[in-house]
This record gives sequence, C-alpha cells and structure tokens, in this order.
Amino acid sequence: MRDAGRVSTTLPILVAGGGIGGLATALGLAGKGFGVRVLEKAAPLGEVGAGIQLGPNAFHAFDRLGVGDTARAMAIYVDRLRLMDALTAGEICHIDLGEAFRARFGNPYAVIHRGDLHGIFLKACRAHPRIALGTSAEVLRYEQDGASVTAFLAGGEAVRGAALIGADGLWSNVRRQVVGDGAPRVSGHTTYRSVIPTERMPEDLRWNAATLWAGPKCHIVHYPLQGWKTFNLVVTCHDDAPEPVAGKPVGAEEVLAGFRHVHPLAQSIIRHGRDWKLWVLCDREPVGTWVDGCVALLGDAAHPMLQYMAQGACMAMEDAVCLAQMMEAHAGRIEPALAAYNAARLLRTARVQLQSRAIGEHVYHPAGAHAALRDAIMRAKSQEEWRDSLAWLYGGSGPEPGAATG
Ligand SMILES: Cc1cc2nc3c(=O)[nH]c(=O)nc-3n(C[C@H](O)[C@H](O)[C@H](O)COP(=O)(O)OP(=O)(O)OC[C@H]3O[C@@H](n4cnc5c(N)ncnc54)[C@H](O)[C@@H]3O)c2cc1C
Repeated sequence: MRDAGRVSTTLPILVAGGGIGGLATALGLAGKGFGVRVLEKAAPLGEVGAGIQLGPNAFHAFDRLGVGDTARAMAIYVDRLRLMDALTAGEICHIDLGEAFRARFGNPYAVIHRGDLHGIFLKACRAHPRIALGTSAEVLRYEQDGASVTAFLAGGEAVRGAALIGADGLWSNVRRQVVGDGAPRVSGHTTYRSVIPTERMPEDLRWNAATLWAGPKCHIVHYPLQGWKTFNLVVTCHDDAPEPVAGKPVGAEEVLAGFRHVHPLAQSIIRHGRDWKLWVLCDREPVGTWVDGCVALLGDAAHPMLQYMAQGACMAMEDAVCLAQMMEAHAGRIEPALAAYNAARLLRTARVQLQSRAIGEHVYHPAGAHAALRDAIMRAKSQEEWRDSLAWLYGGSGPEPGAATG
C-alpha cells in the first residue's frame, strides 16, 4: 500500500521552471531541508531586461526565503505611486510610500531590475547544497505512481522525484496535465517595454515614483531602475490584439500609434524609448484546483494575471513561501501538504487575478464620464484610506499554515 505521498528521503522535489517562482520555490523547500532539482527549459537561466515593482508583501517573502537583506540592498525605494491623467498631464492622485506606509505594512514598496531579482535567487540557489539546477531541460509531461513522480523531458530523459512543482509559467506544460483548460485568454491588450539610460528620460519626468499615466484605452508606466542609471518604460494599449505575442522587437512609430490622442508630455516618454519589445498580454480565469496528487502548480502556471496590480512575481514568491511552510507543517507528507498549499493560496491569488483585470478597465483605461468617476473616487481618498484599502494585499501573505491545516 502506498503511503499517501510521504516525502522520499532520497528523491528530490522536482521544480519545472527556473524563473522567479521556480527559484524562490527551490530556495524555500531547500531551506526546510528538502532536496530540490530545478528543470529549466532555457539555457542559460535568466530574465527579460525590464523592471518589476515589489509591494511590501514581496519583502515579507524575501525575508522568509532568507534573501531580505540582499533584496533591500538592490532595490530602489520610490516615494510614491503616482496616477497621472494622460490627456491633461495633471496628477489624479498619489499614494505616499513614506514612513507611515512602511510602518503600516512593516516593509517598503520598491522597484528592481528583473535580472537583479532573478540573480538574487540564482546566487542563493547555486550556493545551496540541497539544490541542483538543470538547464536545457523542458518538462513535457509527467507520470506518478503514488510514491514518486517522473518528469519526461524534451531531450528524452526521464527524471524521478518525490513531487513535481510546475513553475513553468503562462504556457505551462504541467498545467496542461493538471488542469487541462487549454490556451490562456488573450486580453486584447498590447504592452511595449523599453529600458533607457536616465539621461534619455526628459528631465522634468525623472520622478522618484512609480508613475502611471492613464488615458482612454491606454496607459504608460515609468520608474527609475538600477541605482537611477536607467528608467523602465512600459506602455500598454487596449487594441483588441487577437493573438498572443512575447518579446517581438518593434519601432517607436508603431508604439506611438496607440498614443496619438494623449498629451504631448505623455507622448514624449514614448519618443525617448528605444529597442521597444511587444507583448500581447494573456491571463486566465481562476480555477479551484492546481494539484494532482504529488504535482502542483505555482506562480504564473497556477494563476496568470495581467500586470496591472504589479503582483504576478510577488504572488509567485508568496506561493513559494507558503509551499515550503506547508511541506514543513505536514512533515513532508506531500499530498496533504500540496492540498493545503492550494487551499491557502487560492482565494488570495484569484482576487489579484480578477482585480488586475478590473483595475485595467476602471482605473487605467476609462474615458469620459467613466474617467471622471474614477477621478472623483480616487481623489476623495485620504492617505490613511489608501493604506486601509491595500492592507489585505500588502499587510501579509495570506493564511499561515496553521490556519489552513486546521
Ligand atoms: C509587462 C509586465 C510587467 C510586470 N510587472 C510586474 C511587477 O511590477 N510586479 C510583479 O510582481 N509582477 C509583474 N509582472 C508579472 C511577473 O513577471 C510574472 O508573474 C512572474 O515573472 C511569473 O514568474 P514565474 O516564475 O511563475 O513564471 P515565468 O517568469 O514565466 O518563469 C517560467 C520559467 O519556466 C521556464 N519554462 C517554461 N516552460 C517550461 C517547461 N515546460 N519545462 C521547464 N521549464 C519551463 C521558462 O523558461 C521560465 O524560465 C509583470 C508581467 C508583465 C508581462
């Protein structure tokens, strides 16, 4: 008789995907004493050269994964989240990220280069004796027998582990087997990204803020990166793009096409960009189950979302912390640990998935009376009310193991 997923003392836990979610997971599990083997499709391991915003909840996760001090040393601390009207170039509102914000949430809000963030995890994983990192290792499918899971790789190799965590992103092969809900939903929103040297950024826009210019069916985001050496530019328009696209190089004129109707100051941000790359954004409906026996999904593989709350990577890191905690709480009994992880993370991540869509519609892209209503609601909020409304997200990481396991 099989032993309901008790962890093997000899087999490692397999992690498909060496992105931010996969490496955070490896670190979390290894920190609790489990051996981990990461199987990453690409060679070498890396991240796209762009920025990422980190809410205080990301720092809660860094601390639990043992990389808090390194992350704090590499991050840039912006003073405010600023919402601008892309038609008038006036400020709609801002959220102060100073002392009162940090005191309320116990950690700062920051921005960081993706390569730096990924590098923090990669360095920690490489230094950990219980983590093996494999590249050019695409997981195609798995089989399990109750005592172990076998991952079948594109190169023909079969790798056995005690469990398999699918951290293989938006187009997850592991998800295809665990959930089987087809291709992701194409949002019809096109995003262009560029990172420019700070001297190329117009001087009157070099704000120490994560700034968002909201316009009819479009928005622009910018913030400083890498010790103020560069600025991250992300511009998005709702152009009903029909097909998913990832990282296609495009010229500035093509980017500007969706922004002819916005204020010249907002347009100037786009004119200063270079080496633009295009993504057509996808997400999915939340689903209740990300677990199949000794196999579980994590990060974008489990709950892909639009980037409008700047939380996809933060959620992946929270997942990693939660998974490690559940494995420890269940003394390595894999099936109950994975089920508890799924239950603990489900509603929080579903809320961020759905709220990210809603923010796009009601805050970033409205026009006319819809935009005027947005302005009135957002301007009426005091700083304390902003902090109250964000407490569910930034104040913690969701339920602790005790709460979910009863
Ligand atoms: C424009 C944009 C801006 C964003 N801004 C923010 C932000 O400010 N803050 C934030 O928190 N989040 C942000 N996000 C979301 C964030 O980037 C993702 O949620 C996060 O990177 C997901 O990490 P992951 O490890 O789950 O997946 P991924 O980063 O997709 O990593 C998956 C890894 O698995 C590998 N892989 C894929 N298939 C296989 C396979 N079959 N076998 C083995 N390996 C495989 C891939 O090569 C990759 O390395 C943004 C996203 C976008 C598009």
